Amino acid sequence: MDYVYNQKYSRANFYENEILMRQYPGTISIVVPCYNEEEVLPLFHSRLSVVADSLKAKLEIILVDDGSKDRTWEILNEIAQKDKRFKVIKLSRNFGHQLALTCGLDQTKGEVIIILDADLQDPPELIPEMISKWQEGFEVVYGQRSKRHGESILKKLFAFMFYRTISRITKIHIPQDTGDFRLIGRKALNSLLSLRERHRFIRGMVSWVGYPQCPLVYERPERAAGETKYPVRKSLLLAFDAITSFSYAPLRIASYLGAFVSGLAFLYIAVVIALFFYGINFSGYTSMMASILMLGGVQLMVLGIMGEYVGRIFEQGQGRPLYLVDEIKGEPL
Ligand code: UDP
Ligand code: MG
Repeated sequence: MDYVYNQKYSRANFYENEILMRQYPGTISIVVPCYNEEEVLPLFHSRLSVVADSLKAKLEIILVDDGSKDRTWEILNEIAQKDKRFKVIKLSRNFGHQLALTCGLDQTKGEVIIILDADLQDPPELIPEMISKWQEGFEVVYGQRSKRHGESILKKLFAFMFYRTISRITKIHIPQDTGDFRLIGRKALNSLLSLRERHRFIRGMVSWVGYPQCPLVYERPERAAGETKYPVRKSLLLAFDAITSFSYAPLRIASYLGAFVSGLAFLYIAVVIALFFYGINFSGYTSMMASILMLGGVQLMVLGIMGEYVGRIFEQGQGRPLYLVDEIKGEPL
């Protein structure tokens, strides 16, 4: 059957038989990476608790402290002491969002897994709707943003361009305007966890594993408190990871540029020879400088692109663990 990217399409309708709907999941894991989120955590806990109370399954809520420098870990400890549904993990230092998330996912035991951001930009109130999509037979239900509130124009423009570029240069269908906010079924999660690459673009990897997937469209609210941990510079790094792990189109730039520059050179030589017969001679300095600088620039750029790939091969080859855990508290499931 085709993969489904249309939210209106329902697999239950496809079978025309409600009995084929899956049972409500027995266990649910919620994973939340947190980095310097002391301001938003109390609010996050109270809003998530309301939703958690309404879920009719056994729950584990895994909060990963990605080496925060503020009181995040103390607050996580307080939460875990008061509320037995929580498991809290402290990484040995800041490993970055995608690796902190991977650590949380590695720890899950639930039948379905939900990924949230700590800043309430992924409304926990949408979880029941995601679960009912899973019951219809989808393995992955990803949040897709129809609008984004409270983000800088630069970041929105960057995100817009990024999702359109990557869909042009990769063969995998990575849905546009999504984040890591999603529900993943156990089967898809096990497949995802079997990919142990270092430079992770998790939303792309989730597309790569396949299985029936569908979007859940929502308006992305502003951060509830605190500041973004993804300034444009970090977003750019994630974009590099995304492009290099899903496409080698940038490496082809070298061939295209090579062909282009050689074409120009032939044209130039033809013109110079023709002008020679008319008795016109150039003094060479300016044109020589121009061509040396241009060729030098092109070569350095191509080397840089190759460097991006070689560096990643190097880090992957080192085979270091993706993250290191300092402490774990709580055992909800
Ligand atoms: N985050 C993390 N490690 C980092 C950066 C961010 O665990 O190095 C977490 C952060 O606490 C939040 C999520 O990743 O829960 C998304 O970050 P943020 O909301 O700042 O990104 P934005 O929504 O602005 O893109
Ligand atoms: Mg956010």
